[in-house]
Amino acid sequence: MSTTNNMNKKAYNIEGMHCASCSVIITKTLKKLDGVASVQANFATEKAQVEFDPSRTSLEKMNEAIGKLGYHLSENSVEHAGMNHGGMDHGEHMDMSMPREKKMQELQAQRSKVRFILPTALVVFAVMIWDMASRVIAMPGLPIPMEILNVALFVLASIAMFWVGKPFVEGVVRFIRYRVANMDTLVGIGTLTAYLYSAAVTLIPQIRSALSLPEYTYFDVVIVVIGFVTFGKYLEARSKQRTGEAIEKLIGLQAKTALVVRGGREIEIPLGEVIIGDTVVIKPGGKIPVDGTIIEGSTAIDESMITGESIPVDKAAGDIVIGATINKQGNIKITATKIGSDTMLSQIIKLVEEAQGSKAPIQALADKISSIFVPTVLGIAALSLALWLIIGIPALGQSLAVSYGILSFVGVLVIACPCALGLATPTAIIVGVGKGAENGVLIKDAESLELLSKVTAVVFDKTGTITKGQPEVTDVVSLHSAMGDDEVLSFAASLENKSEHPLARAIEMYAQSKKILLKSVQNFEALEGVGVQGDINGKKTVVRKPTANDTHPQLKQLQSEGKTVVIVDVSEAPALLIALADTIKDESAKAITALHALGLKTHMLTGDNHLAAQHIAKQAGIDGVIAEVLPHEKAQKIAELQKQGFVVAMVGDGINDAPALVQADVGIAMATGTDVAMESAGITLLHGDLGKFVKAVRLARLTMRGVRQNLFWAFFYNVVGIPIAAGLLYPIWGVVLNPIFAGMAMALSSVSVVGNSLRLKVKKL
Ligand code: ADP
Ligand code: MG
Repeated sequence: MSTTNNMNKKAYNIEGMHCASCSVIITKTLKKLDGVASVQANFATEKAQVEFDPSRTSLEKMNEAIGKLGYHLSENSVEHAGMNHGGMDHGEHMDMSMPREKKMQELQAQRSKVRFILPTALVVFAVMIWDMASRVIAMPGLPIPMEILNVALFVLASIAMFWVGKPFVEGVVRFIRYRVANMDTLVGIGTLTAYLYSAAVTLIPQIRSALSLPEYTYFDVVIVVIGFVTFGKYLEARSKQRTGEAIEKLIGLQAKTALVVRGGREIEIPLGEVIIGDTVVIKPGGKIPVDGTIIEGSTAIDESMITGESIPVDKAAGDIVIGATINKQGNIKITATKIGSDTMLSQIIKLVEEAQGSKAPIQALADKISSIFVPTVLGIAALSLALWLIIGIPALGQSLAVSYGILSFVGVLVIACPCALGLATPTAIIVGVGKGAENGVLIKDAESLELLSKVTAVVFDKTGTITKGQPEVTDVVSLHSAMGDDEVLSFAASLENKSEHPLARAIEMYAQSKKILLKSVQNFEALEGVGVQGDINGKKTVVRKPTANDTHPQLKQLQSEGKTVVIVDVSEAPALLIALADTIKDESAKAITALHALGLKTHMLTGDNHLAAQHIAKQAGIDGVIAEVLPHEKAQKIAELQKQGFVVAMVGDGINDAPALVQADVGIAMATGTDVAMESAGITLLHGDLGKFVKAVRLARLTMRGVRQNLFWAFFYNVVGIPIAAGLLYPIWGVVLNPIFAGMAMALSSVSVVGNSLRLKVKKL
């Protein structure tokens, strides 16, 4: 694996996964292949991310390797559905529904097995309890003769073992042939041992008398264990499907057709045939098919499905619209600007999918345990059987010791399934990431979510994050230069015309409102974090932030009113002060209060001057202000906070704050356009205010709390269950856990972990 340049990273669907240790097997097997650099297989999403060199390996080769182990990789078709490019997508949604249909079929097959085995197991369970009870308390024994009962149980156990329990038997076969073991293998070895032993002593009674073995058979154990475990797996599969609903909801948002103007006529075409630059017509109540810009008409648009904001947004010509949102009122025409995989919705789908499949650091421990679990458990089971025979036979006699030995062997194998352990983290992450997407909080990966839950300090960018980011010119103060003020203003506006800064927009608009004409600029230069400069009419002109040398009395006065003041120099002499004010967003103060209630320290970071920054910080209720920093110093300031021991989140606009976003433990970008660029941010908040950040923090904490609860219960259950099943309580209380309770407990644990994760869905953020 020396070359990394030709690597290709792809996500595949996996078929045939049964339990958490399958992902370990798949990862190990694929990694061994020549040309495969990295593999991330995930049981909860049933997806694998493979990084490989296409010249040295292929999907076919990978399938060959894992095929004999019972797994199959297929192209990730959700990706295709989300990313239809123009032209090549007839029947666009057909391929997407394939895996879902397959899963439904699987679920259906599982259901018919459950319909048979669950009632059977319950009856057998009742008979067992009756039989046990009648030996201890005074009540009539079973009304069925033992011989008949035994034959019936033999038949039912055979059906349970080889039809319902087929995956378990296959697990044993795989273990023997390829030395790979998963959870099915454990259950398979346990139940098959009980079955074969029982069948042997039933069919050849001589064995029993020769070895003076106990009279019982364990057919009932086979039926009940397989019954409960299968039922548990069915419930688990059903709820696992529900954890992934968010993605399907997102895909379902996509419009199927678009009404475009071609050759002067409006025609309806499939979504995939829309091309960039098409004029698309959207009627009231219609869905906007692709991202675009309004060119005609005005309306209110419901963007709740994308941003989580329930109030419709007013839009008119020039405004950006997002595909999949709903046009509530007017007739509008838009120019398509983004199609296929570039649309915001496609980007969101891709992101959510990747995030759901990513691993949280907290999962590393669970993975490690899962990978050594199977051999360890086989060892413990064999050891407990051996101990029962060695110590038990002299103490209890052959019959009882053999019987307890078999019960503990089966019990340990069955109870030990770390299914719950494998599901603990991913199910909660899937639900958390999905819930985030529904609320306009896009999470890049599980690690960001985990880090966000641990954050102790938040640093906000001022402009556009705390404030609206739409400053307006409030005052223009003449410094009585030789030129007229309007001319100086026209010089300033001409320079700002070339700048992207929010202040630049404000100055340009102000000049426009005064009908001031722009001049041509030579040698333009943007001074990052300081201002702009250039030559106009041969005069060097600068629009810049004030320095310590600027002592005009009006300057301090305007700044202390919370205004940002810039100075226009012409030919090296200050000619004009322009004061601008940006208003604080309505939600900012409330959000800051909420963050303080969550125990977070808040800071504001800005290149603006101290006085103006202080004024805004006070209005917002922010703890600390870090003002007059140059863009490259922003990251440094964050590093300082980290040195003081804070886990820092940085909330910024994602473009000019990139270094700070990367330096922070978690970077949070406030998205404004239709770009979901997440290179530097771990989390993106779609079109919202800081209230959304509060939601993100709550979501992260709730999700990670769910993960910890899940992990605790999964560990706890195995740590307590295995010794009990091995018979540790026998010397103390004289009880041995019947494997049927092990089967029941195992099913319950997985179901409760998935259930706990699903609870997150209904939690209020
Ligand atoms: P912020 O942290 O608010 O985004 P910046 O680092 O972008 O601030 O800019 C810092 C300061 O530099 C601004 O407050 C302003 O005084 C000055 N400045 C930057 N760009 C421009 C510009 N294009 N026109 C005028 N002043 C500018
Ligand atoms: Mg900025």
